[in-house]
Amino acid sequence: MNIQWYPGHMTKAKRMMQEDIKLIDIVIELLDARAPLSSKNPDIDNLATNKSRMVILNKADMADARKTAKWEEYFKAKGFFVLSMDSRKNSGMKPVSDTIREACKEKIARDRKRGIINRPIRAMIVGIPNVGKSTFINSYAKKSCTKVGNKPGVTKGKQWIRIGKDVELLDTPGILWPKFDDQEIGLRLAYIGSINDEILTKSELALKFIDFLKINYCNALTDRYNIDIDIQNSENFEILKQIAVARLCLLKGNEPDLDKAAAILFDDFRSGRLGRMTLEEIPE
Ligand code: GDP
Repeated sequence: MNIQWYPGHMTKAKRMMQEDIKLIDIVIELLDARAPLSSKNPDIDNLATNKSRMVILNKADMADARKTAKWEEYFKAKGFFVLSMDSRKNSGMKPVSDTIREACKEKIARDRKRGIINRPIRAMIVGIPNVGKSTFINSYAKKSCTKVGNKPGVTKGKQWIRIGKDVELLDTPGILWPKFDDQEIGLRLAYIGSINDEILTKSELALKFIDFLKINYCNALTDRYNIDIDIQNSENFEILKQIAVARLCLLKGNEPDLDKAAAILFDDFRSGRLGRMTLEEIPE
């Protein structure tokens, strides 16, 4: 597989994050609820030592709700404060502030003992590309968007967004680079659109994805594309061909256009039209 991140990018992103993390109390890590571990870069655990930690299983509206509940338990057991959500909705943001407060309870108590009262909790969003960081920040900020001026000792231009009376969010998220040592992780990241599709051709990727669907969501394709085919007993190539025909994706001479069919398939999956799906199981 061909990694799209260059070492220079990675080093710069990491350095910036190391600087930003010094300023904050809590790291809020956005993961994709459809592939929580694959969309997690474990390096953040080293960068965020001594910080309160919160995980948001984002895009939960597109994930399998039953599995999301299990993933929530999984991360809670690892010591994270956890929420799952659809970041596009700014109506569901109260639990975020509540959870931030809960996660920083000890810190607030410590501050109080030292006579520091009403110092806002400073939070920062981190996550891999496309996981919904900007969407989250916009929705959360919309609750009450007061930009807080530059602070002394803080890099010029760094903006804090005051939310309610006790939380400040850094307005630029920390970008984590996707990590895929493992072919399966790379595939999941490609399915959700987090890494470039070019690791394989679209149709090659679709053939792999159909393998996953056969095992886990075997009716999704017949339901969505109205194709009359025995999914379990057909070659993936045949299935993709049928999708192409059903969607009138045809090349010259009426050959099915598999790349176009694959693009439709991923478009449908990534927008939730294929149904709510979770790509990843909790490890044993
Ligand atoms: P970033 O690269 O992490 O900042 O990701 P963006 O905020 O740009 O979001 C990437 C895409 O995911 C956009 O098309 C968003 O509309 C979409 N998105 C973000 N959060 C959610 C969510 O919770 N549910 C759904 N369905 N889509 C979301």
